[in-house]
Amino acid sequence: MRLNQRLSVAVSLFGSWMQRNSSIIYAIQWSVVAIYLMLLIIPLFYPLPSHEEHILSNVVIFAQFVFWGIWWPFVILSMFVLGRMWCGVFCPEGALSEAACKTVGRNLHIPRIVKWQGWPAVGFVILTLYGQLISVYDYAKAALLILGGSTGLAILIGILYGKKSRVWCRFLCPVSGVFNLLSRLAPISLKTDIDTWQNYASKPKNHPICPPMISIKNLHGVSSCHMCGHCIDYRDAVRLVPRSVHEEVTVYGDEKTNIWEMRLLLYGMIGVAIGAFTWTVSSRFIWYKQTLAKVLIDHNIFWPFSSDIPWWLLTHYPEVNDSFNWLDGFCITTYILGSGLIFGLFLSLFLSIINYLSDDDNNLKMHLAQAYLPIAGAGLFLGLSATSVKLLMYDGIYFAFTGYLRAAILGLTTYWCLYLAYKILLRYQFNPVNRISCLVLFGATLIPINTAWYFMFWG
Ligand code: SF4
Repeated sequence: MRLNQRLSVAVSLFGSWMQRNSSIIYAIQWSVVAIYLMLLIIPLFYPLPSHEEHILSNVVIFAQFVFWGIWWPFVILSMFVLGRMWCGVFCPEGALSEAACKTVGRNLHIPRIVKWQGWPAVGFVILTLYGQLISVYDYAKAALLILGGSTGLAILIGILYGKKSRVWCRFLCPVSGVFNLLSRLAPISLKTDIDTWQNYASKPKNHPICPPMISIKNLHGVSSCHMCGHCIDYRDAVRLVPRSVHEEVTVYGDEKTNIWEMRLLLYGMIGVAIGAFTWTVSSRFIWYKQTLAKVLIDHNIFWPFSSDIPWWLLTHYPEVNDSFNWLDGFCITTYILGSGLIFGLFLSLFLSIINYLSDDDNNLKMHLAQAYLPIAGAGLFLGLSATSVKLLMYDGIYFAFTGYLRAAILGLTTYWCLYLAYKILLRYQFNPVNRISCLVLFGATLIPINTAWYFMFWG
C-alpha cells in the first residue's frame, strides 16, 4: 500500500474511532471545561504578583502563561493541523452551551438577528479591542470578564435556542469566523460520498444531530463542520479523509465566502490584529499619543489625563502602577481600529484592481482574499505566542532561535499566500500579461503586512 493510501486509511479509521467512542470525547470535553474554569477562577483568589514572581512560583502567572502563552496560540495552530476539531472535541464554551441546550433548553425559534452573518466579524473586533483596553492578557479579573462573559452568553443562548445543538457556536461565537477561515487550510476534512449516501440499501440509523446544524449530506469543503465525529460512517458515506491543504480554498473558495468573512479576514484578522499586537511596542503609537497630549495641554484640557476609571472600562491597577487614562483609551481604540481600516481598505483596493483586470465577470475578489489566510493565521499565532516568549523571558528562559523561527514562519506563510494566489488565479480567465501583473500586485500587498510584523519583532 502506498504511503498516501495508508494515510487515508489511518485518518478514516481515526474518524470511525471518534464516532464509536463518543464517551471518551465527552470525557475530554468535560476535562477541558474543568481546566478552563480552574484557570479562570483560581487566580482571582490570589493577589497581583510582584515582579520577582515566576511562572512556577506564582499561580496567577502560571494561569496567565497556560491561558495566553500555550492555550490560545496552539488553538490557532491546531486549525492548520486538525481543522475545527478544537470546536467539536475540546472547546469548553461549546460543550457548556450544548449541555445547557440538551438539559434545560427551551428550543425557541432562532430570531433573524441571531443568524446575522456579521456577528463573528463584529464580535472578533469588539473582543480584540476590549481585551486590549482592559489588559486581558495580564489580569485575572479582565480574563474572567471577557472569557467568562462569553461563556455565560454561550450558555444563555444554549438555554434559549436550538435542539441539542450549538446555536452560539454556529452564529455568534466571536472566534468562530476565525476558526472557520483558518480551518480551510487543514489537511483533513469530513466528506460525504453522495452516491453511497443515495444508494445506501439498509435502513439507516437515526440521522445524527449535527451540533452546528449543517447539512451532513453535502459535506465537502466544510469549514463550518466542527469535526465532532457524530456523523462519521453514517450511511457508509461520511468519512474523515486527508486532503490537499489547498483544496478548500482553491476548489470551493469561490462558492463559500460571504462578504462578512472577507471583512473579518482583511480588516479583522490582518488589520485589527496587527494594531492590537503592535501598539505596545510601536514608536508611532507613542508619537501619536504625545502629539494628542501636547494639543490637549496647549488648550488647557486636562480631564483626559484622569485615570480614575473602573477596571472593567479601562485598565486600572494602581497597586502595580498600571492604569490607563482616557487619552490612553482613545489612542488605543483609534490605533487598533485605524490599523484595521487602513489594512482592510488597502487590501480590498488591490483585490478590486485584480478583479477588474480579470476577464471573468466573477467572484475573484472574494476568492482571492482567502489567499491571505496563511499570513493572517501566522500573525495571530506570532502575536499570541509573543506572550509566551515574554513570560518565559521574565523567568530567564530565552530561546536564541526565536527570531529565526518567527522570520521562517513569516517567510513560509508569505510564500504559501503567493502560491495559493497563483493557484486561484489559474482558475480564472486572464490574458497572460494580466495574470502575471495580478500575481505581482498580490505579492506587493504582502509587503506592508510583513513590514508591520517586522516592526513588532525587530524594528
Ligand atoms: S458535520 Fe458531522 S462531524 Fe461535522 S459537526 Fe456536524 S455532526 Fe459533527
